[in-house]
Amino acid sequence: MAIQRTFSIIKPDATKRNLTGKIIAKFEEAGLRVVASKRIHMTREQAEGFYAVHKERPFFGELVDFMISEPVVVQVLEGEDAIAKNREVMGATNPAEAAPGTIRKEFALSIGENSVHGSDAAETAAEEIKFFFKDEEIVG
Ligand code: UDP
Repeated sequence: MAIQRTFSIIKPDATKRNLTGKIIAKFEEAGLRVVASKRIHMTREQAEGFYAVHKERPFFGELVDFMISEPVVVQVLEGEDAIAKNREVMGATNPAEAAPGTIRKEFALSIGENSVHGSDAAETAAEEIKFFFKDEEIVG
């Protein structure tokens, strides 16, 4: 498998509970390298744009309100098979269904407040990285 880059967000429920370091440790332990990182407070426009694919879903309004409720940490993770590896370390969307040892199993509060976002495919990873980072902000 080739070296890939993926996009990650440490979500408001996790930054609020001071879990940033513990979550980054999970990425690093899995062999994912943080090659870009910044703490931001997302605007409503950014959150709506980022999650536009979900705009018809019943949870959209709640999801946007949640994502702008506290700062987040947006990151680019790099490593072998990084997209799938990150999804594995994150665990299932619903923490009740997440495997032991995953971030969502250990830290998530609910299906909505689930501590992390991670790209699900190569095209979305490229789009999501571009949404938040300029090329020069990524240092591999
Ligand atoms: N979400 C929610 N309720 C649901 C499903 C999803 O609030 O019933 C939120 C949750 O924060 C999730 C995000 O919407 O992480 C995006 O959903 P997706 O199905 O893409 O899950 P993910 O890729 O984050 O595992």
